[in-house]
Amino acid sequence: MRSNVSRFQHVRTSALVAACGWALAAFASGARAAPAPPTPTPAVDPAPPAVSVPSDPTDVQGWLAYRTAHDLPALPAQATVLYRMGVEAQRESDAETAVRFWRGAEELDPGYLAPRLTLIAHLLARDPSQGLMEIGRLAALARTSFRLQHFMVTYFALYGLTALYLATLAVALVLCWRHRNRLRHVYQELLGRYLPPMRAGIWAWALVALPFVLGFGIAVPAAFTLALLWSYLRKTERFVFVALVAMLVVSPWVMRTFEQLSLPARTQDPPFYSTLDLDQEGYDPARMAEISGLASAHPDNPFLAYAEGWMAQRGRHYDEALVAYERAQARWPQEARIPNNLGNIEFARGNAPQAEIHYKHVIEMAPRWAAGHYNLGQLYTARFRYAEASEEIAQATALDFDLVRNLQARSSGQATPALAEEWIEPSIQWQAMFEAAETHGHGAVVPPVWQPWFEGRGTPVAVWALLFAVLGLALGLVLHHQLPARVCGNCASTVCRRCATRRRDQVLCEECAALLTTATTPEFGRLLLFKRRREARRRLGQVRTVIAFLIPGYGVLAFERLLLGWFLAGSAALCALLLLTGHAPFPYDPRVFTGAPHPFAGIAVVGFALTYLLSLLVYLSLQGHAHEADAALDTSSGRAHERLKRAA
Ligand SMILES: [Zn+2]
Ligand SMILES: [Zn+2]
Repeated sequence: MRSNVSRFQHVRTSALVAACGWALAAFASGARAAPAPPTPTPAVDPAPPAVSVPSDPTDVQGWLAYRTAHDLPALPAQATVLYRMGVEAQRESDAETAVRFWRGAEELDPGYLAPRLTLIAHLLARDPSQGLMEIGRLAALARTSFRLQHFMVTYFALYGLTALYLATLAVALVLCWRHRNRLRHVYQELLGRYLPPMRAGIWAWALVALPFVLGFGIAVPAAFTLALLWSYLRKTERFVFVALVAMLVVSPWVMRTFEQLSLPARTQDPPFYSTLDLDQEGYDPARMAEISGLASAHPDNPFLAYAEGWMAQRGRHYDEALVAYERAQARWPQEARIPNNLGNIEFARGNAPQAEIHYKHVIEMAPRWAAGHYNLGQLYTARFRYAEASEEIAQATALDFDLVRNLQARSSGQATPALAEEWIEPSIQWQAMFEAAETHGHGAVVPPVWQPWFEGRGTPVAVWALLFAVLGLALGLVLHHQLPARVCGNCASTVCRRCATRRRDQVLCEECAALLTTATTPEFGRLLLFKRRREARRRLGQVRTVIAFLIPGYGVLAFERLLLGWFLAGSAALCALLLLTGHAPFPYDPRVFTGAPHPFAGIAVVGFALTYLLSLLVYLSLQGHAHEADAALDTSSGRAHERLKRAA
C-alpha cells in the first residue's frame, strides 16, 4: 500500500519513460505500481484470451480488442504513450495525426483528462463546434465520476479563491501606496515635534513600512494601513478594506473546507480507504485479498463492501460478489448500481429470470439512468424477446447516447454483450467525504500553493486580522482628530493645517504658496502655479504609464476605476496562476494530469492576453480623457489670463 503522493511521482516518471521509448514490457511487469494495471499476468486469468499485445502503440483498435478480451476498464499506460505521441505530432505541425492519437488515448482510458483537455483547446481554436461537442462529452463523463467532479471542484475553487484573494490584496496595496503620503506626512509632523526634520522624515517612512516587516504576511499589514487611512478613503475604497478583512476572517473556514476536500488524497483513510480508483483496476488476486481484508476489518463500511463485490465480480467469484454486494445494499438501499451489478452477475451465470427482476428494480429506482434499460435490453435480446429489447435499448439511447454507442462498440465480435456498470454514485461519495471529515479530525492540510503564505495558517490569521483592523481604525481616528491631512489644491501634494497656506478658497502647499509670493504680478503667479501643476501631473502620468504597461489592471486602478481594476487584476492573477502553478491542489488521481502539467495553459495564455489588452485600452482611453481635461483647463486659464491682461 502506498500513498498517492508517491504514486503521483511514480506515474509521472513512468509516463516519461514510456514516452521516451516503447517500453511496454516494463510497464506490464510494474503494473500494480500504476493506478490501473494495464495487463494481468497469465496466472490471473484462468483462460488466456487469444488477443495478444499489439506491437504498434498507435494500433488503437488492436488495443481496444486487447482491453475487451482481458476485461480491463482502461489501459492508462498505453493511453499516456499515445497522448505523448500526439503532443509530439503536434510539435511537428501534424495536427491531423495529433488529433487521431488524442482521440485514441481518450478511448483507451476514458478517465484520463489530459487528451480530452488538449483536444478541447485544440478544437476550440480550429473547429469550435467540434470543441463544444468534446466539452459536452467531458461534462457527461463528469456526471458519473466522483474523481473528475472532485478534481474540477478543488481545482477551480483553489485557483478561483487564490485569484480573488490576490486581486483584493493587489487593489488594497495600490490604495495603501496611493494614500501613503497622508500617513507619512502626519507621522512626520507629529515626530517633528521631538526630532529634527530630516530624521522625522526618515522615521515617518519607517513607521509606514513597519507593519509590513513584522512577519504578519502582506494582507494583515495592508488591512492595518487601510484602517489607519479610513477617514481618507472613498466608499469603494472602504469596501476593498472590508472585503480584505472579511477574506482574512473567513480564511480558517476555507482552510477547513480544503481539509475536507483533501480526504480522497489520503488514500488509506476512512471512508474510502483505497477504493476510489478501483473501478479503473482489473482483477488482481493480491488486490482482491487486500480489499477483502479491509472489508472484514471494517464490516460497516459500504465502500469496502461494494469494492469487494466489484473486484470479486471482475474475477468471476460470483458467490463472494453477491454476499459483498448484499452487505453494501443493506447500507445503501437506494443505490441503483447494486441491483444493476447483481443483475449482471445473474445474467453472466445464465439466471435470466433473476437478472430480469434485478434490472426492473434498477429501472424503478433510477428511471433516468440508462444502464438499467440497456442491460435489460441485452437480456431480452439474449432471450429472443426482440420487441421489448429494442424498446429498452431505444430508451437507453435516448437517455445516454454515448454509453450505448461505447457498449455496442465493445460488444461487436464478442460472444457475450458488454453490460453497463458504474462505480458508486458521486453524490454518495460527496456526502461520505464531508461526513467523514466531520467525524475524523486530521489537522490542517493546506494545499501546496498556499503553504508559503502567512494567510494560509488558519485561525491565528483571522484573529490577527480582526485585531489589527480594530487597532488601525482606532489609531487612524485618533490621528485624524489630532492632525487631518489634506492635499494642495494646485499640485496635489499632501499638506496639513501646520504647513498649508490658505489663499482665498484654496489650500496650497509651501512650495505653491512660495511661487505666488515670489511672482511680481498675480497673473504671473497664476502662470507659475499652472506650470508647476502641469509638471507634477506629467511626472505622475509618466510613472503611471510605465507601471500600467507592466502590470495589467494598474492603469485602471490609477484612474480610480476600482471595480474594473479589481476584475482585471483577478483575471490576470487567475491566468498567471494557471500558467505558473497549474497542478492539482492535491496529488490525487495523478492520471488526470500525467503528461499535461498545465492543462489549461492555452486558455490561460489567451485570457492573460485579453486581460492585458483590455487593461491597456481602458487605461489609454482614460489617459486621453485626462489629457483633454488638462488641455481644456490650460486654454481656459489662458483665456482668463487674456481677460486679466485686458482688464489691466
Ligand atoms: Zn502645491
Ligand atoms: Zn504638514
